[in-house]
Amino acid sequence: MTTPATHQSFSTFRKTSLSFLSLLFCYFSFAQLTTKNLPLEELKGFSQTYYYSPGHESRARDIARFMENAVIFFQNEIDFTPKTKLFILAPQHWKEFAAQPLQEVYGFPHNIDYERLAVASEDNDFWRSFLPPTDRLPAALVLQLRKAYGKNDGSLSMMPFFDLLGLHEMGHSYTAQAGVKMHRHWMEELFVNIMLHTYIAEKQPELLPALETFPDMVINADTAEFQFTSLEDFERLYPTLGMGPKNYGWYQCKLHAAAKDIYNAGGKRVLIRLWKTLKNHQEEMSDDVFATLLEKEVHPVVANVYLKWMQ
Ligand SMILES: [Zn+2]
Repeated sequence: MTTPATHQSFSTFRKTSLSFLSLLFCYFSFAQLTTKNLPLEELKGFSQTYYYSPGHESRARDIARFMENAVIFFQNEIDFTPKTKLFILAPQHWKEFAAQPLQEVYGFPHNIDYERLAVASEDNDFWRSFLPPTDRLPAALVLQLRKAYGKNDGSLSMMPFFDLLGLHEMGHSYTAQAGVKMHRHWMEELFVNIMLHTYIAEKQPELLPALETFPDMVINADTAEFQFTSLEDFERLYPTLGMGPKNYGWYQCKLHAAAKDIYNAGGKRVLIRLWKTLKNHQEEMSDDVFATLLEKEVHPVVANVYLKWMQ
């Protein structure tokens, strides 16, 4: 079973500068939050708990509806719903509720303790730091970016991508609370990306450009600037994020692209088989045995994430 202790050593990473692609997509800690006397409002009538900074009810309702539709989808498909509390926070409330290492990084979506999740209510500098200078990109890619992240005023915003990552973070609550063993760190992250991609592709395909464009842009660029690209390095360096923030972001983009390939090869049944297989196999396995299990009981395309990582 995945436990928060797995991620405790992430705290050693807090001294590292949080810049472009920093600590992307996933972060856990033991931050102690109090929910007494909250300066936040609460939405009623949903399966999960949603707190939001006053003045952001409309956006909170949009996020809650997105999450709740996904909760219904996953209940039907994998017969499980976790208990989570999503904090939708304005900048003035971020420090109070975010996990300690991320209190200075407004906008970084994260799973605090497998129950509490934090997301931003507003566009912010952290999200803007991911936007590349469009004058250096091929025209076709700029068009893709505008389609996925363009605003009415002609500017770009990464909000459509980051808003989807709340579901990635909730995915970690699914696997942890259900006791589904992930076996490897790469599977821990791949699994929730498969959940996210499957839900979007099945129920909200109009959001696929927002989900796919940014990871595709990163992994199609030259990898020369990244010191680490192997899965062995990912496993070794993940507990301390020793590969560095930008390099970690590259791995996450690879795992988003893998999730897309997996869904496109086998549809939603791959997610269901993978959930059941990992739930039923709690025993320790070598890499080869794990890959064979994935190939035989889930789908060869999942095994290929390990077997053909860089091909
Ligand atoms: Zn994650």
